[in-house]
Amino acid sequence: MTGTPRPSGFSTRAIHAGQDPDPATGAVVPPLHLTTTYKQDGVGGLRGGYEYSRSANPTRTALQEALAALEEGATGLAFASGLAAEDTLLRTVCEPGSHVVLAGDAYGGTFRLLSKVAARWGVEHTPVDLYDLGAVRAAVRDTTRVLWCETPTNPLLNIADIAGLAEVAHAAGALLVVDNTFASPYLQRPLTLGADVVVHSTTKYLGGHSDVVGGALVVADRDLGEQLAFHQNAMGAVNGPFDAWLVLRGIKTLGVRMDRHNANAARVVDFLSSRPEVSAVLYPGLPDHPGHEVAARQMSGFGGMVSFRLAGGEEAALRFCERTELFTLAESLGGVESLVEHPHRMTHASAAGSPLEVPADLVRLSVGIEDAEDLIADLERALG
Ligand SMILES: *Cc1c(COP(=O)(O)O)cnc(C)c1O
Repeated sequence: MTGTPRPSGFSTRAIHAGQDPDPATGAVVPPLHLTTTYKQDGVGGLRGGYEYSRSANPTRTALQEALAALEEGATGLAFASGLAAEDTLLRTVCEPGSHVVLAGDAYGGTFRLLSKVAARWGVEHTPVDLYDLGAVRAAVRDTTRVLWCETPTNPLLNIADIAGLAEVAHAAGALLVVDNTFASPYLQRPLTLGADVVVHSTTKYLGGHSDVVGGALVVADRDLGEQLAFHQNAMGAVNGPFDAWLVLRGIKTLGVRMDRHNANAARVVDFLSSRPEVSAVLYPGLPDHPGHEVAARQMSGFGGMVSFRLAGGEEAALRFCERTELFTLAESLGGVESLVEHPHRMTHASAAGSPLEVPADLVRLSVGIEDAEDLIADLERALG
């Protein structure tokens, strides 16, 4: 950290943490340091502690400090993608014979990393229903090193109790990892609820503009931070300087974007709930959502992701996805523009026939920050 004390408000941190004006030029925005190496004043005489850009790069450092400040952690690390962050984490804290407990509806890429990659190196995993703490306790073994949680989940928007899971994990001597991609640190800060590690796909809300792929880890414990930093350098899946710069720029507006995502999603949920073509709306902000109370306790807003089911089944869901104009038919989420997708055939197609299979009448919306009236008019046209 630099000498400036860390400001306390979230959006103040988003704009200033790690981002002091450049001491050499006064540039208000952290410079994009496109350099691989750094001149040494005599052998080993590093000017700013920088030696080689896989190990450290000042633009990435600025992002890492901002991430740590936003998640209220000790150490932030930025990676080439969300999955690169996850891989580095698993290979730091697990070894052959280690066991991971994860949500039955975890992000498909996380499940694939565990079942197709980590499994080959002897890391075992058990998918469970994370909303049932008894089931989680029953799944834990002596060798469980990680309890891997996502909340809200994708695309069913289930909610897990972070504080409750932290207790179960710690009683078992395991780490609680929370993938905080859907909520973003503006709405939920898992480390303050007892989690040990926060994972992000910065590709989504943190970047926020659908123009950069990246990932992050933030941890509360400095020693674990050092082990992860060692592996970040040793494995090399780092965030490039330009990607780090883009995520840092996105983060500055995270608070205002999330407020608008929340407000627009609430309008969309109201509209969908009033329509006979829609058989169910899945959104943690709804009082009848099974995770509503927990979500209201651990989140400061319910986010921009909305899923719903169509009474007309798969055919109606596919027709809907092809009829929206403003909601663009595409995978991914968390950008300023609204997106629509059919999880059963798109993001979750690989889960067909497995316990992770999602209903075919389900549509997922990533509600953007356009004008709510225009979004609702688009949904109305596509339903009609
Ligand atoms: C997209 C996503 C990931 C993976 O991140 P990439 O940046 O695509 O590697 C992990 N978790 C969640 C919840 C995601 O949405």
